[in-house]
Amino acid sequence: MESEQIARKLTGAVAGGLGVTPDYERGRVPCALCRAEGDAALAAGDRVTAALRNYEGHTWEPVAVYCRSHGIDQVTDVMEVLAEEQVILAATLEPTGYLDPLSGYHPNALSFGGVELLDYSPTAAGY
Ligand SMILES: [Zn+2]
Repeated sequence: MESEQIARKLTGAVAGGLGVTPDYERGRVPCALCRAEGDAALAAGDRVTAALRNYEGHTWEPVAVYCRSHGIDQVTDVMEVLAEEQVILAATLEPTGYLDPLSGYHPNALSFGGVELLDYSPTAAGY
């Protein structure tokens, strides 16, 4: 099943990229909705919701990360439907570390563990 493959593929993906700027040194990721209220950073062990898109069909990029309490569970809650794969997932932040091809190794970087796909918008939905 497609959604299971995607969940497996995104398990262990670093919680940072296109739309999400993590604090690799402190091991924190900002919640896109809490950010306006100050430093409401998510940490290892927190259950989160994340929106990701399969950018140009070859690399999954996080668009935003949210606290689970915001009730985001559909692609259309946070993104326009595009002609590419888009997902909303629930995950637990894990302190796995991340080897960035540009800036080197970040031992406190967080990644997505326990990934569960909440919503999936296929490429064809955007045409
Ligand atoms: Zn939040």
